[in-house]
Amino acid sequence: MTAPESSAATEPAVIEPAVVELGGIEPGSPELRVAAGPAGQGGDGSTASNLTIGVDVGGTKVLAGVVTPDGQVVATARRETPAADVGKTLELIVEVITELTKGHQVRAVGIGAAGWIDETRSRVHFAPNLAWRNEPLRDKVADQVGLPVVVENDANAAAWAEFRYGSARDAVDSMALFTVGTGIGGGLVLRGEVWRGAHGMAAEMGHARVVPDGRLCGCGRLGCLEQYASGSALVRAARERAQADPATARRLLELAGGQVEAINGPLVTQAAREGDPAARAAFAEVGRWLGSGMADVVQLLDVEIVVVGGGVVEAGELLLAPARAAFVDQLAARGSLPVAPVVAAQMGNLAGVVGAADLARR
Ligand SMILES: [Zn+2]
Repeated sequence: MTAPESSAATEPAVIEPAVVELGGIEPGSPELRVAAGPAGQGGDGSTASNLTIGVDVGGTKVLAGVVTPDGQVVATARRETPAADVGKTLELIVEVITELTKGHQVRAVGIGAAGWIDETRSRVHFAPNLAWRNEPLRDKVADQVGLPVVVENDANAAAWAEFRYGSARDAVDSMALFTVGTGIGGGLVLRGEVWRGAHGMAAEMGHARVVPDGRLCGCGRLGCLEQYASGSALVRAARERAQADPATARRLLELAGGQVEAINGPLVTQAAREGDPAARAAFAEVGRWLGSGMADVVQLLDVEIVVVGGGVVEAGELLLAPARAAFVDQLAARGSLPVAPVVAAQMGNLAGVVGAADLARR
């Protein structure tokens, strides 16, 4: 499962650094002990580092980490992002990388950004939650930090982290990730590689049309999956139910201080856990749509496993059970063929960091 080392292919028994007692992947974990890199590299006593940095750039924060070839995060740095300020965002990316390279010798940087990244992993065509438009991010960062840099879509990076180290680590060569947050993102691994598509825009599952002439999506089209199966759709469904039939949403409304507009995702989850019928129905509705979207992807690509990440999956089986049921139901025509498991992601908030860091090695 370790990444091939580009410079040492002919050396016998290249030994990855032994990582000792790394305690999980919690952000902000203290500096952890990492043994020295492979002996024998560099005749001048220097050791070629196997560490890379992953940077996850979202709408509200920049989170970066130093990552070992085993997918362990040994240091992190974080800044809040002013999403509208392109220059400031670049400055903060450079700042977190510089902070981390002070304590660690790293060989490359991977940046995962929420946006459409070109197929050469260098340019952000468009980022819906950031101000980047046709931004040559790779070269701008590389110029300032003096390291090789690649730019990846954040969901692709997260998918890669799950495939290498997380829920899909036992998959041989394929998986699909659905990230269910405010919107729906996606990532695909096919034949053991991230599938970026001809223009870097593959795996936009959230913008597959599921309802002809359906709800207007932020992308400008009608009836996208994101409008029916995202965290925003969950809140919308719960509010509609609370409005139409408050008696079924008693606990949910109580949590929201009696205000339908105050209902948000965490409150829907809490109310559903406590048995609130409206909140549970909202999860069932959103889960059904999600399962339906999964079935389409699996019909097309026949991946080994479907992983669900993003904030909404913290609700666990409240979301996954109806999604799985709809998914299996819609694949019924496959008869006795195996059905891909549908599981929750395992890499948490650091999926983007770990995935981008590992992709920087490749
Ligand atoms: Zn859309």
